[in-house]
Amino acid sequence: MPEFSYVHSRGWVEVIVGSMFSGKTEELIRRLRRAEFARLQIQVFKPIIDKRYNDMAVTSHDLTSINSLPIQDAEEIWNHLKPDTKVVGIDEGQFFEQNLVQVVQDLAERGLRVIIAGLDTDWQAKPFEPMPTLMAVAESVTKQHAVCVVCGVPASRTQRTAGGDSQVLVGTHDAYEARCRLHFKPAVDLPTLDWKLKREEIVATTPS
Ligand SMILES: [Zn+2]
Repeated sequence: MPEFSYVHSRGWVEVIVGSMFSGKTEELIRRLRRAEFARLQIQVFKPIIDKRYNDMAVTSHDLTSINSLPIQDAEEIWNHLKPDTKVVGIDEGQFFEQNLVQVVQDLAERGLRVIIAGLDTDWQAKPFEPMPTLMAVAESVTKQHAVCVVCGVPASRTQRTAGGDSQVLVGTHDAYEARCRLHFKPAVDLPTLDWKLKREEIVATTPS
């Protein structure tokens, strides 16, 4: 995985995308830790999931191991940005509004390195803004893969296995599975264990 050399005085945008369970947050933290080792001041932001997603709790993932500040709107980054900060990390970028793109661009224009992790597609495998736009304007894009729970090949899709059909259902990891293109279904599907049992049942009851 290429990690571009970064000139401290120049702004730069890196995007890390992929399905759920593809290690986006871990990769974000890895890059931030490396920046810390280089004695660069870092700051990390994550979204407070707003009232549109009132049936959810915010998942912190591994960000508990790195100091992160929850914010409601991307513009709030300006209120909290410290003068010495050289690297800004943003997790769960897909939960911010479209104005995240302009904030990220402005941070880079000011000479900061900005690293954003997020889902590139939603549970119906449709582009999940603002991540696709960020991918377009970024200097570097890394697409991570999980493992398909049905067949074991690299997975690019997030299969919903419970819940309704709203775009966002946060904080319920057990309502999702990583799936490949073949095994992804654009609707709520049975979890894989049930799916396997059902398949065996179908096979068993199919007359030969
Ligand atoms: Zn598969």
